[in-house]
Amino acid sequence: MREFILGSSNAHKAQELDELLRDVATIKSAPEKVNVIEDADTFEGNAFKKAKAYHDFYKSPAVADDSGLVVEALPNILGVRSARFAPELEDYKDKNAKLLELMSEFKGEQRKAYFVCNLCFYISEKEVYFFEGRVNGTIGHEQRGNEGFGYDPIFIPDGCSDKYLAEIAEWKMKNSHRARACREALKFFQK
Ligand code: IMP
Repeated sequence: MREFILGSSNAHKAQELDELLRDVATIKSAPEKVNVIEDADTFEGNAFKKAKAYHDFYKSPAVADDSGLVVEALPNILGVRSARFAPELEDYKDKNAKLLELMSEFKGEQRKAYFVCNLCFYISEKEVYFFEGRVNGTIGHEQRGNEGFGYDPIFIPDGCSDKYLAEIAEWKMKNSHRARACREALKFFQK
């Protein structure tokens, strides 16, 4: 079984990736965080930066994910900068409240959003693979649910009977942007 060091210190992501990739890889948490400046303007660019930094530091194959929430009606916030939204607020309850407030006048199509996950497997300089997953949905009008993390309590995935992502952990594990990217990776590595 291939072993990859995980280029992230986000415990939620680590748990999701470990579970999702279990059939093809062992995902090891990095004992120490490697500082990476996530200044690329694409999810792919940032995933590459993180995976390469952990590969170079630990001299081991590495995997990293860069993910975020895209609200097309707010092109200059979130997206690749999702982790940097409202840096003055620490708690995602407060960040989500601020985003809902910013969108309070948005209606219909303006509330459309999607989560993206780009996964980069950096095995060596010559062997680097990318896989991407998305999940479409809508930004709700309140925060609901206690599962998941980040923006899950304000996101209503399409086709889920108006449930919020933080209310449907089982669905998220199978269908999220991260699950979809992992499924592509599984197909590739199982070949
Ligand atoms: P990254 O760690 O730089 O990839 O930052 C991702 C940003 O998007 C952070 O603000 C996360 O909280 C958010 N994010 C990524 N994936 C998810 C998810 O599955 N649910 C909710 N928020 C997420």
